[in-house]
Amino acid sequence: MICLGIEGTAHSIGVGVIKNVKGACQVLSNRIKTYQPEKGGIHPREAANHHALHIASLLSDSVQAAGVDFAEIDLVSFSQGPGLGPCLRTAATAARALALSLEKPLIGVNHCVAHLEIGRGTVKGCKDPVLLYVSGANTQVIAFAEGKYRVFGETLDVGIGNCLDKFGRELGLGFPCGPKIEEFAAKGTEYLALPYSIKGMDLAFSGILTAAEAYVQQGKRLEDVCYSLQETTFAMLTEVTERAMAHTEKQEVLLGGGVASNKRLREMVQTMAKDRGARFFVPSRDVCVDNGAMIAWLGFLMYQSGVRMKLEDSLINQRFRTDMVEVCWRD
Ligand code: AMP
Ligand code: MG
Repeated sequence: MICLGIEGTAHSIGVGVIKNVKGACQVLSNRIKTYQPEKGGIHPREAANHHALHIASLLSDSVQAAGVDFAEIDLVSFSQGPGLGPCLRTAATAARALALSLEKPLIGVNHCVAHLEIGRGTVKGCKDPVLLYVSGANTQVIAFAEGKYRVFGETLDVGIGNCLDKFGRELGLGFPCGPKIEEFAAKGTEYLALPYSIKGMDLAFSGILTAAEAYVQQGKRLEDVCYSLQETTFAMLTEVTERAMAHTEKQEVLLGGGVASNKRLREMVQTMAKDRGARFFVPSRDVCVDNGAMIAWLGFLMYQSGVRMKLEDSLINQRFRTDMVEVCWRD
């Protein structure tokens, strides 16, 4: 079965084509275009306009790169939520139009669950992980328990990526700032105390952001502030992930989302996993960031297990929670 997936929850519009090969996901193509705000954060309407501008060419590029014909696509899936309304609507409209014109089934999928499933689908040995999903807008620790993907911990305010981007934006580092902060942090030598903000299993980043910005205003070395920001927030993420692993007794940890590219975060989570005797997995970068292939793969899993979606049920849901999905494709 060949499935085409359209991702469009936030800054990126992506089209991926996948094929099921004996229960594993083979990515045939995965094209992404990312909206870059001229200044400030993501403006939802402008991001949606960007997506609308690029979707048609992305569709043909991705299908061509996959080496298939539109007629060979068996299923169209799209990111139904969570995300920014105008962006979600643009991707959903494209998906509906494509499914109707090809006369093929349509399935809307949960973006966060797709991040987890693409890890299981593409990373060898990854079967039942705790996912640390760290992206711009989302920060969640997710694992499968009693028929659903449950959120064991999450941010109470901004996503970790958003926290890094906001910090960098104040300094004029441009978007996205995560990679630049990582470079500065690698040259940090002094740890500056920042609030360590875990509440139960949840996390809060905005107070840390304010404190880090205050250090910059006081003239502290940027390298040290970036280093301290990473050490503090990543330690918090690692702690909550470890507690979720202990609680669920899972032996695998998987990273997902754009912040998973960060070497220091990988190192911390990997060390934690090693100390527990657990296995550590990171998907390749192209399927770790927001992308169409993961949407296609989850669409396939759902379709294969009998899920069908009527056109009138394909409305987007900006607040589509991870634990609203009935996970019928797993035992
Ligand atoms: P996503 O929303 O999953 O596409 O991820 C985008 C986020 O990942 C942005 O907030 C980036 O700043 C962040 N990001 C990308 N690369 C890195 C990195 N090397 N270190 C930290 N954050 C990163
Ligand atoms: Mg994402």
